Amino acid sequence: MTEVTTKKADNQLIDRFGRTVNYIRLSVTDRCDLRCVYCMPEKMKFVPRTQLLTLEEMEQISRSFIKLGVDKIRITGGEPLVRRNILQLFNKLGEIEALRDLTLTTNGTQLKKYARPLRDAGVTRINISLDTLKADRFQAMTRIGDLKQTVEGLDAAIACGFEQIKINSVVMKNYNYDEVENLVRFCIDRGIDISFIEEMPLGENAHHDRAATYCSSDDILSDLQQHYEIIPTTEKTAGPTRYYKLGEHPDSRIGFISPHSHNFCDSCNRVRLTAEGLLLLCLGQEHSVDLRHIVRANPGDRDILEQAIIDSMQIKPKGHDFDLNSQEILLRHMNLTGG
Ligand code: SAM
Ligand code: SF4
Repeated sequence: MTEVTTKKADNQLIDRFGRTVNYIRLSVTDRCDLRCVYCMPEKMKFVPRTQLLTLEEMEQISRSFIKLGVDKIRITGGEPLVRRNILQLFNKLGEIEALRDLTLTTNGTQLKKYARPLRDAGVTRINISLDTLKADRFQAMTRIGDLKQTVEGLDAAIACGFEQIKINSVVMKNYNYDEVENLVRFCIDRGIDISFIEEMPLGENAHHDRAATYCSSDDILSDLQQHYEIIPTTEKTAGPTRYYKLGEHPDSRIGFISPHSHNFCDSCNRVRLTAEGLLLLCLGQEHSVDLRHIVRANPGDRDILEQAIIDSMQIKPKGHDFDLNSQEILLRHMNLTGG
């Protein structure tokens, strides 16, 4: 990737490497009703509520991003559906015409209640995290979860007719690697997609040795090739997923998110906003801008906020430096970063 002069078209965010940013992931809370072993420690210390952005501030910041060319927002967390009054934000964002894609990543526990109102609000696609189909394993991997609740939530979402429903599975050796084929079969039976994710070293993790449990996407792919005709595609959904088609099952696709084995930074088009209002320019680096401070110090001043967003493009790093044997991003777990 060669560095190019930063230029700003009228409504475009372009970084120093010529990458256009048109996608923001918004973490609406760092809290969660589960404690997945790869995501956070069992006794996670959450951010005090007073430090969180209000839903109104999130809407204001989202509107500024949209004015600057962002047309895709993914709501994430923590578990977004445990944030009080969260539908209010979905309803407001769903009304914005220039927002082409309003999506959600959730653990599914609350979807029985929320799937229909989310669809009505204009949510187009949902990613639901599900790493195992075995109830005892599900409880072990989430520390407190109930598999039935997540599967019921998933089925409720399928019944609402979203444009895409996708399962996200973080695959780890000695945990769920042996279930990859079952997970694919589960998705084929429901006519939905699945993405397999390589675990990222975010936040200190005393639970397991990330290098020892690492499972490469290429290993998963070659295992699946024993069972299915797997056809590469160039299909994209704005995120880092590489998709494959399944020859005999046209309603399901298999995706891979492979930060270690297939670096995706060259085509990065996204930034993240933490629940505290920190604009993170890269998932795997600390470069950030405190938008909460800017919004609160300059109430109602959209120009200052938009200039800060434009200026942030100057510090978007070239890429992450993930190393499974070290924990460079010690303090920021995935629930805070917004996966
Ligand atoms: N609570 C929601 C959920 O679980 O879908 C949304 C937030 S969660 C942080 C977003 C995604 O990040 C999930 O698919 C989860 O499996 C994934 N994730 C969490 N920690 C991860 C890690 N250390 N490496 C890779 N993916 C991770
Ligand atoms: Fe919660 Fe999602 Fe993290 Fe699991 S991955 S602990 S569900 S935020």
